[in-house]
Amino acid sequence: MYAEYYIFVVNIRTMPESEETKFCLSCQKSLNGRIDKKFCDDYCRSNYNNKTKKVLPPKVKEINLILRKNRDLLKTLADKSGGKATVSLHVLAEQGFNFEFFTHQYITKTENKYNFCYEYGYLKLHDKVIVVHSDK
Ligand SMILES: [Zn+2]
Repeated sequence: MYAEYYIFVVNIRTMPESEETKFCLSCQKSLNGRIDKKFCDDYCRSNYNNKTKKVLPPKVKEINLILRKNRDLLKTLADKSGGKATVSLHVLAEQGFNFEFFTHQYITKTENKYNFCYEYGYLKLHDKVIVVHSDK
């Protein structure tokens, strides 16, 4: 009795993997052939890859690049001075900062308007810019 049970378990474990039914990742049809096959054919493969790869419109890519550059410039300034920095507006613009693009705004009770590029923000004060870092 016990011996039979043991044999049964062993048989399941040693069952060749190729007997498992695999399905195409793109169209979900069952696949035959090689164990490592993931798609019916090249058509299904490229269809799947196009769907999973993020294909962003050029405008979105362009704005993402601007925002990331802005963030990196703010980060460099904030990190250099331990979280908060004051720089000249002119210097920041010269480094390629684009003041037209930011991700969100934070307005303080005293109506100071901080523009953020992700977790780094800035406040324009005449010809100066105060750079801050927020973990919120
Ligand atoms: Zn397929």
